[in-house]
Amino acid sequence: MATAEYDSVTKVFESGDGEVVAVEDLTIAINEGEFLVLVGPSGCGKSTTLRLLAGLETISDGEVRIGDDVVNDKKPKDRDIAMVFQNYALYPHKTVAENMAFGLEMTTDLSDAEITERVSDAADLLDITDLLNRRPKALSGGQQQRVALGRAIVREPSVFLMDEPLSNLDAKLRTQMRTELQQLHDQLGVATVYVTHDQTEAMTMGDRIAVLNDGQLQQLGTPLECYHEPANTFVAGFIGSPSMNFIPLEFDHTTATGIGAGIEYEFSEEQAAEIGNSPREIELGIRPEEMELATEPGPDTVAATVTVIEPMGRESVLHLDVGDTTATASVSGDYDIATGDTIRLRFPRDRVHVFDADTGETIF
Ligand code: ATP
Repeated sequence: MATAEYDSVTKVFESGDGEVVAVEDLTIAINEGEFLVLVGPSGCGKSTTLRLLAGLETISDGEVRIGDDVVNDKKPKDRDIAMVFQNYALYPHKTVAENMAFGLEMTTDLSDAEITERVSDAADLLDITDLLNRRPKALSGGQQQRVALGRAIVREPSVFLMDEPLSNLDAKLRTQMRTELQQLHDQLGVATVYVTHDQTEAMTMGDRIAVLNDGQLQQLGTPLECYHEPANTFVAGFIGSPSMNFIPLEFDHTTATGIGAGIEYEFSEEQAAEIGNSPREIELGIRPEEMELATEPGPDTVAATVTVIEPMGRESVLHLDVGDTTATASVSGDYDIATGDTIRLRFPRDRVHVFDADTGETIF
């Protein structure tokens, strides 16, 4: 049984300038103990998806279930969830202990002693015991974040919902809190749905990630599945940093040619069979870190002109003109390459992706 489930869920907002389909026909089952990340660009519907599970938005169509219960019409407090918001939403006049206890006092009939025990256990777990009598304004951002987590933990929910909970922290603290959140999740074993627009956060934290765009689920899979076997050009371009390069080519039998000088790439017979009908427009995808410098021309190499070099120490990022398109490559910093040089790059056959140019769907 799934811990929580979206079954063909659609959310339409009525706004002054018409209808906005924020979430369209979404089906996702969240497994027991799973850390599921909802990721996608601004406006893709991540927060709305989370808020539908929390009960903070009404559902236009479909069903949301928590455990066995259909919760479409249940109030947030009756849903057995706890939410952590981006702005922490702490009560400024209450102490840390009072902030953590407040939700329990309002929504449960636990005794004072039971509440005190839960607060104390959560404070222990989060290492904030010595802050329990302070008020939020006397806390750093990271400490406030811990209190917001503590307030969720004391509820002992069946699902944690987190909406960009680390986005107000500086880069270093964010990285540290990522690890802490993962450790906390391992300790508590409670299913978590986590919203972020940051693909690195999604890749490093998620057991699975759900990639959304324009209200539609693009792919649901482990981070490595989404990285190695993206469903389409959107996922391929969104997951991975720096982003995958896409080179438009005209495929004809085993050879694909691009617009501009020297752009000819020869696929293996097997790959050509997968691409199928020709002539046909395709997008060839190759990640910057998968390109190799080639010393001589070959069927799996293309020519490129270096426009900008970003030395990063061990690696250099090359910005390139490839035919009449641009690309980036990460290569060893030891190579002696100058701006304006024409170089040859190998796109190893077992590393290239091919997409249908019209639909963006993955061919392989
Ligand atoms: P962000 O990362 O910028 O927070 P998001 O992926 O979380 O974005 P949502 O906030 O879920 O996206 O918004 C999805 C779409 O629904 C957007 O087009 C947004 O403008 C629209 N939307 C969200 N809330 C409302 C609302 N209350 N009324 C009308 N439209 C809304």
